[in-house]
Amino acid sequence: MKELVVASTNVGKIKEIKSMLEPLGIEVKSIKDKLGKDLDIIEDGQTFKENALIKAHAISDILQLPVLADDSGLEVDAMDKQPGIYSARFLGKDTSYVEKNQYIIDAVVGKNRTARFVCAMALVIPGQEDIVVEETMEGLIHDKIEGENGFGYDPILFFPPCNMTSAMMSLEEKNKYSHRAKALAKLQEKIKELG
Ligand code: IMP
Repeated sequence: MKELVVASTNVGKIKEIKSMLEPLGIEVKSIKDKLGKDLDIIEDGQTFKENALIKAHAISDILQLPVLADDSGLEVDAMDKQPGIYSARFLGKDTSYVEKNQYIIDAVVGKNRTARFVCAMALVIPGQEDIVVEETMEGLIHDKIEGENGFGYDPILFFPPCNMTSAMMSLEEKNKYSHRAKALAKLQEKIKELG
């Protein structure tokens, strides 16, 4: 497989997926590259895996090509695992990530700080069995917004093994530990298993 369409409009995600797949000789294309426009896919699943499959199928059915989809988010234990699958829509689409991140910092004061990024990845190839995997990056909600790299909730997920937030990690470093990198590695294992 030389070309893979990624069913996402999230620039941060696409950048990370590209940086992991292009060294393997796989050219990553966005929906916009293939269709000339973005598509709004209704994610009405109840889990990360369901939503990843919904997105991959929606685009693969249109293009009749192999499509990879990533559905991911932040689970905060002290908030009953919210924002979870609603991470992108949390507090409404007009709320900035500075506001969302500060809201979460305030919500966990004096409480359990454990949290994780979750990433479900689905690969849909027309005429073949679907593959879907899930991985996490376990951390703690930091006491302040810190770090300039990455996107979304990266500045508040503190990753103890590196003693920094996900937004303080370089792309190469994040790719060693992230939910997305681990999910992609697991997906590659499954692809090998299935031949
Ligand atoms: P999705 O496009 O519905 O999967 O939304 C994923 C949302 O989860 C993103 O918009 C981010 O808010 C959050 N998210 C997922 N992965 C990451 C990550 O690696 N860093 C920071 N935030 C993330």
